[in-house]
Amino acid sequence: MDSELTVRQRIVEALKGHSLTAREISQAIGVKEKEVIEHLPHISLSLGKSESAFELVTEPSECLECGFVFSKRERLKTPSKCPVCRSEEITEMRFGVKER
Ligand SMILES: [Zn+2]
Repeated sequence: MDSELTVRQRIVEALKGHSLTAREISQAIGVKEKEVIEHLPHISLSLGKSESAFELVTEPSECLECGFVFSKRERLKTPSKCPVCRSEEITEMRFGVKER
């Protein structure tokens, strides 16, 4: 049914009204998580254009050990280590698409 949509369009559709991790997106649309992560910056750019009715929103990762929030992170990938306490217990970044 959705076979004519590109992977990027399918990711955007999956994210409308939802907040998903890269892994959940990958399960929802049946592509590898690595591929999802590669597409996300392009989706962010194309939705960032002013004529777009939607925008990509992100929920930052947080350290479960000390509570540090990776709020200034530009990369759309869950970090591997906390810069404060070096813990690797970090929540996964979540993505969503919402109307402007
Ligand atoms: Zn920490």
